Amino acid sequence: MSFANITTEQKQQVLSELSAIKADFATRGFFPGTSGNLSMRVGPYSPDEFFFAVTASGKDKSKSTPEDFLFVDQNGKPCESTTLKPSAETVIHNEIYRLTGCGAIFHIHSIFNGLVSELFWERRAVPVEGVELIKGLGIWEEEAVIDIPILSNFAEVPRIVPEISERLASRIPGILLRKHGIYAWGRDAFEAKRHLEAFEFLFEYVYRWQLLMNRK
Ligand SMILES: [Zn+2]
Repeated sequence: MSFANITTEQKQQVLSELSAIKADFATRGFFPGTSGNLSMRVGPYSPDEFFFAVTASGKDKSKSTPEDFLFVDQNGKPCESTTLKPSAETVIHNEIYRLTGCGAIFHIHSIFNGLVSELFWERRAVPVEGVELIKGLGIWEEEAVIDIPILSNFAEVPRIVPEISERLASRIPGILLRKHGIYAWGRDAFEAKRHLEAFEFLFEYVYRWQLLMNRK
């Protein structure tokens, strides 16, 4: 199965879903300073061969242009001739797809995801206990207790990759990079968006709860 066998309609479907998500996230201030990146898989999947659309590097994500996305393969190489460069963090998307076979991955930087990553850095995970919105991550048990993994952040992005395979927790659809941002994924764009929103809610909740406790 090569990229050439994927239909135009399949590719357009992916691009239109990603554009809608990008516009929605931009209005919510999820992409400060052109940060953040989005991707969505297209066509069949095996851990050794897959294709996805990913945001191009350094674009203003509050605008919609023909230069917003490009298709890359499992090595992050463009599948079509283009002058666009994939986001510098595409290697992280590659590793998450390879390990999980998910359908979409969304990454944003926010104040709360940065703050909790530092607050809980020593335990390398953000603990969340019994908060209703844990269900937004697809975890349905009563009074669930979860640990959201926090990974080291490096300016040289490929150095982040080895820790992903070590730390990725099967039931948690996301990883948090220290003082950087959250990567959330799902079967499809709808599920990845739900997971991202649930993570952001939980991060703010946990941070504010810590402040309240410390005031006592
Ligand atoms: Zn980032």
